[in-house]
Amino acid sequence: MPNFKVDLSGQVAVVTGAGNGIGKACAIALADSGAQVALIDISQAAMEQTQAEITSRGGSCTAYLCDVSNVAAINETYQAIVDYYGRIDIAVNSAGINIQQRGEEVTEEAWDRIMGINAKGAFFCSQAAGRIMIKQRKGKIINIGSAMSVVGYVKRSAYCASKGAVAQFTKVLAGEWAPYNVTVNTVAPTFINTPFTEPMFKDAEFKADVERRILLNRIGEVDDVTGTVLYLASDASDFVTGSIVMVDGGWTAW
Ligand code: NAD
Repeated sequence: MPNFKVDLSGQVAVVTGAGNGIGKACAIALADSGAQVALIDISQAAMEQTQAEITSRGGSCTAYLCDVSNVAAINETYQAIVDYYGRIDIAVNSAGINIQQRGEEVTEEAWDRIMGINAKGAFFCSQAAGRIMIKQRKGKIINIGSAMSVVGYVKRSAYCASKGAVAQFTKVLAGEWAPYNVTVNTVAPTFINTPFTEPMFKDAEFKADVERRILLNRIGEVDDVTGTVLYLASDASDFVTGSIVMVDGGWTAW
């Protein structure tokens, strides 16, 4: 866990993709900070592991099985969460996938899956959270974009398009919902060690290229991301909205 403390006692957080990687680490960090956390994932087994870890650390959470590419399922899930907790203060949208293909090979099916989960899923989860937060006149939406929200990389045309979409709709929602005291930001990590990237780093040439591009010369860890998410979830970031917060070890600065 990062050596960074915020007090989120009494707050309710929703985290998508909470079964693994960045979403799991965010759910644990939010629960450690005192928030009650609603976990969303497509994998019941993975969510159960996150739930067990939160409970063993003395935290509080509930789990909701939901495919975030299905808008009706998102709306049902958010309704169930608000029925249970009565409010939603923080929403972290981390569910995401990639299918690596060069531009000339991208299939319609792969494009639709990537966009359906990463862009459409994050948008409609933001919408479901935003509708509740607008009524509350308070809320913080944190979308996990990517350094590839702003730069390209080989075999990732659909992925980069989906993450660019996240950064762009984040700005529009930030503007539309600012009058309601709802902030919306994108966190943009570079490559982070998670189950998502583990198979990628078996390719030594690829790993060396990634490390060479990161100024700090290492692959990130999930807790390089959770500190930024806790900051954006806390009142320390009340004047931050519509931002793309780079957590990329300097990749995009140079
Ligand atoms: P991960 O694969 O470790 O975890 C993703 C989780 O999302 C899994 O538990 C999975 O079951 C869940 N999920 C997948 N499809 C879903 C769906 N349709 N509905 C609900 N849940 C679904 O991935 P990660 O590395 O933790 O990545 C999390 C987010 O961070 C993604 O949006 C990813 O694009 C982004 N990101 C990751 C990295 C990285 O290097 N790991 C870098 C930048 C951005």
